[in-house]
Amino acid sequence: MQTLRISPAVYETLYMTVGSHPPECGAIIGAPDADPTNITQVWFDRNAGIGKAYYTPTCDRISAIVGQWMSMNNKHHFAGIIHSHHDGFSSLSSLDLRSAAKILRENQMQSLYLGLFHQKELSIFRAFLHGEEETCSIEAVHIVIDPALPHCQFPEN
Ligand SMILES: [Zn+2]
Repeated sequence: MQTLRISPAVYETLYMTVGSHPPECGAIIGAPDADPTNITQVWFDRNAGIGKAYYTPTCDRISAIVGQWMSMNNKHHFAGIIHSHHDGFSSLSSLDLRSAAKILRENQMQSLYLGLFHQKELSIFRAFLHGEEETCSIEAVHIVIDPALPHCQFPEN
């Protein structure tokens, strides 16, 4: 199982935003190009479809944030999406997987991380394309909150 390291500040931000606001809301996470399994960036997508039955990213804002990450000295990239589900929906939905497949195709990415807060518990999966299918495959990843990671959150949430 792959290990994903998350800086304590990123985890706390995720917990206080996606983990604590009413579902379904979401955030994007970023990692340095040099260490793609170290999550050191987060941006809470405050205006995304909160209260709807699904999480809809606000794409124009996300592009701007990711653009800022890419222009940092220590270049970062978009690594995945964390969203929340209502009680009782503890798995990623088929819509979640189809949306992830679309993002992977449109951005020509090998994989991305899909995180889910359910009843304040965070689980993360690595999503990747499987042939020409409209959906994607997932595998669980092991999460480590690593105090050794720098926190370079940018811009402010
Ligand atoms: Zn979902």
